[in-house]
Amino acid sequence: MSDSLSPDFSPADSNGAGVSDAGIRDMVISMLGSGELPPIVQAGHPVLRSPARPVAGQLSAGELEALIELMRRTMHEAPGVGLAAPQIGLPLQLAVVEDLYELPAEIGAARERSPLEFLALLNPRYQAIGSGTASFYEGCLSMRGWQAVVERPSRLRLTYDDVTGLACHREFGGWAARIVAHETDHLHGTLYIDKALTRSLADDAQYSQRWAEPGISLARQGLRF
Ligand code: ZN
Repeated sequence: MSDSLSPDFSPADSNGAGVSDAGIRDMVISMLGSGELPPIVQAGHPVLRSPARPVAGQLSAGELEALIELMRRTMHEAPGVGLAAPQIGLPLQLAVVEDLYELPAEIGAARERSPLEFLALLNPRYQAIGSGTASFYEGCLSMRGWQAVVERPSRLRLTYDDVTGLACHREFGGWAARIVAHETDHLHGTLYIDKALTRSLADDAQYSQRWAEPGISLARQGLRF
């Protein structure tokens, strides 16, 4: 793993919700052995608010791959386009993303939403490219039933380690940039509601009934944000 990816690394008792490396491994082994998909932790649980520990050899290669596969299945089952380890109770800087859902062309175009192949992100960090931003409704598997508008960078540069520990750099734009930013934020104790325009908050029923459109102009007018 690259040290440069973990500039804010700090000792066990101030990071990762106080869980040690051995504790993290125990949790993973127990999850893998249960034969069930782990429940998705909901907002209000402190693991979602604590900086997660960098992935740094706590797990064997086989355990790490099995954990990534478990997270992938959990994400599909939800269903969602991203899942961060804290969302299954693990204070570890690991997230999975994948967006291969079919959607109407009009929505895909407005939101710049194109297929994103499955990726496991270890110790990710992002930096905006330029000053362009995009504002759209988003939701979170850890805040079920709600959506709100979040302004995020239109393009960003993501630095992360792959499953073998190789340092990777990749640029993302459009909806994929939103997904990787949302998941990376999770690993630092941030939920989308922290960055949302709170006046835009809508439950799923209100959103479907009133504000479902490719953009956000109806909601912007009706909810006055
Ligand atoms: Zn989320």
